[in-house]
Amino acid sequence: MKNLQADVVIIGTGPAGLAASVEASEAGLKVIAFEKQNVSGGAANMGMGPLGIGTRHQQDQMVDIDVEKAFKMFMEYTHWRVDANMVKKYFEASAGTIAWLEDLGVEFAGAYKYFPKSEATWHIVAVNGGIGRNGGAIMNKAMLDKAQENGAEFFYETPAKKILRDAEGKICGVDAVDKDGEEIHVDCKVVIVATGGAGDSPEYMKERMGYTFGKDLFNIVIPGLKGEGIKMAIAAGAATTEMTVEKIYILPNSDMGVQSVPVVFMQPNLLVNVQGKRFINEEMMQNTTFTGNAIQIQKGAIGFSIIDSNIIKTYKKKGLDVVNFVHHVSDIDDFEQACQDIVNDPANPDVVIADTLEELAEKCGIEDVDQFLETVEEYNDMCESQDTLFYKPSKYMKPIKKGPFYAGLFRPSGYGTLGGIKINENCEVLDDDWNVIPGFYAAGTDTCTIYGDSYMFLLPGNTMGYCVNTGRFAGQGAAEYCEED
Ligand SMILES: Cc1cc2nc3c(=O)[nH]c(=O)nc-3n(C[C@H](O)[C@H](O)[C@H](O)COP(=O)(O)OP(=O)(O)OC[C@H]3O[C@@H](n4cnc5c(N)ncnc54)[C@H](O)[C@@H]3O)c2cc1C
Repeated sequence: MKNLQADVVIIGTGPAGLAASVEASEAGLKVIAFEKQNVSGGAANMGMGPLGIGTRHQQDQMVDIDVEKAFKMFMEYTHWRVDANMVKKYFEASAGTIAWLEDLGVEFAGAYKYFPKSEATWHIVAVNGGIGRNGGAIMNKAMLDKAQENGAEFFYETPAKKILRDAEGKICGVDAVDKDGEEIHVDCKVVIVATGGAGDSPEYMKERMGYTFGKDLFNIVIPGLKGEGIKMAIAAGAATTEMTVEKIYILPNSDMGVQSVPVVFMQPNLLVNVQGKRFINEEMMQNTTFTGNAIQIQKGAIGFSIIDSNIIKTYKKKGLDVVNFVHHVSDIDDFEQACQDIVNDPANPDVVIADTLEELAEKCGIEDVDQFLETVEEYNDMCESQDTLFYKPSKYMKPIKKGPFYAGLFRPSGYGTLGGIKINENCEVLDDDWNVIPGFYAAGTDTCTIYGDSYMFLLPGNTMGYCVNTGRFAGQGAAEYCEED
């Protein structure tokens, strides 16, 4: 057993843990951070950037958003079922946090929307001077470098196992185990939990939210996120909160493959359920939360995106209806071949191709083929007038007429879990009586219950924004606590 001393122990080094490590080390505290993987950054290494409201980028780009507008929008969206003080504090801090990251050397390409109806709050980290994927990793590296420069120590492949409190109930230590199996005990005054939720634990998701993996939730795998921080916090006396999934929808086997496939099937064309009926204004398909929710509640949790050969031809000639930065594709020349490759793979049921609509419905497993044919007929009629069912704008109404026909089989998935540990707006962990547990802080998705039942994609960059900002609050809180102690 190795015995160490620190002021602050941070468990998990995604954006929340890293931001906390910078703040606490900047205040002169001795910081030890435990990370179970061999690298820091967590899920955010795959992401593009955090939310900011009222930043210099938005001023430069003449984006009309401020804290008041964002706050009102957010609270209406969540029906005030969330911690209003945390939302206000996070939004108010967010512009300063973008500037703080810039001071650490992070460059932003600007403030962007995620889809046309969202606000331009997504501050995309510049990759080689422009927009690219995985800018989150650059942001994480900048925070890691600063914390290490300040003397913070990072232990990799060293999962924390237990949080300890003394006889008065104050935090007094953390136990961890290194990659050789040696136990490490740290005496400390503060612990900050930031382990990123349970996106890699079908069992915990089943226990906490009732999802059956592979049946009503698919492919939410972010390696290593097993809910350990949440479980450790609860074992140490923390109250727990409702957990949700940051919902998206995907082609479970093909989403990370040839990008033109998900991109074309995510265009706002006809989307039907297994009963052959429309169930959404497909204009919403760029809002992954709304569409993920809508697919989730259909029979069998499945939605079929239907495309005909004329639509493909139009997209090739005139461009897609909607593009976004995540699936950053405009050239779809490989679409038909990529679909054929998927169809040829017996292990991959994500795409169906057929010469007739009847055959397409049968191959998809649509239960009511007559209803499906009626839906297509009505839809095609409405393409000549207007969508009287769900009011989709006419510009997105393209008839389904010419074979071969293509169907993409969408399933609900998630970017991760949200919530688990109860905190106040200072990121102090609360017990079941809502008392602050002295020295106990938590941040990031382990604590993120500010969205209610559905993640808020209308203000994009929201999870990473919440994680960096709450990480900062926790680190600052740790510094104040240690000074008072
Ligand atoms: C593909 C993808 C793209 C995304 N893009 C964006 C985006 O552009 N903008 C946005 O706002 N959000 C985005 N998100 C969401 C965002 O990245 C996450 O919400 C965010 O990374 C969560 O941060 P966190 O610090 O709470 O946890 P994480 O980033 O998940 O980090 C938690 C860390 O804790 C470690 N850990 C777990 N258990 C232990 C333990 N017992 N001991 C020690 N360490 C432990 C993990 O290994 C991990 O490194 C994206 C997510 C995904 C999957």
